[in-house]
Amino acid sequence: MRKIEHIGIAVKDLDESNTLFSSLFNVEGPYKIEEVESEGVKTSFFKNGPNKIELVQGTKEDDAITKYITKRGEGIHHIAFDVADIRAEMARLKAEGFTLLSDEPKKGADNKWVCFVHPKSANGVLIELCQEIAASAT
Ligand code: ZN
Repeated sequence: MRKIEHIGIAVKDLDESNTLFSSLFNVEGPYKIEEVESEGVKTSFFKNGPNKIELVQGTKEDDAITKYITKRGEGIHHIAFDVADIRAEMARLKAEGFTLLSDEPKKGADNKWVCFVHPKSANGVLIELCQEIAASAT
């Protein structure tokens, strides 16, 4: 893992939170808003210097974010790490005994291949692996 790619924050109302985080970072708004239909979520992204924050809102009654907020409320949801080769990293973590939430990388928001590590196998922290999708592969 090379660096923190972004921190994901679960929110109830993406529009309201976009306004809030725009004030916090003193910017016009998120640089990207994207719906990931397969995951039932809407996301927005903010840059703050070299760092990136992702806001995530559920769009269904039974999506992972809505369930998370019902259980624990809004707040930090996951930490994403940038990896050079997501398949190699998934194989390595699996061999180390971590539980992955999918066997194959999935197409996530902001042009990334992603895979999540179950929080139960990482001290309660939901870890996301992210690999930038190469321009030629999209
Ligand atoms: Zn994320």
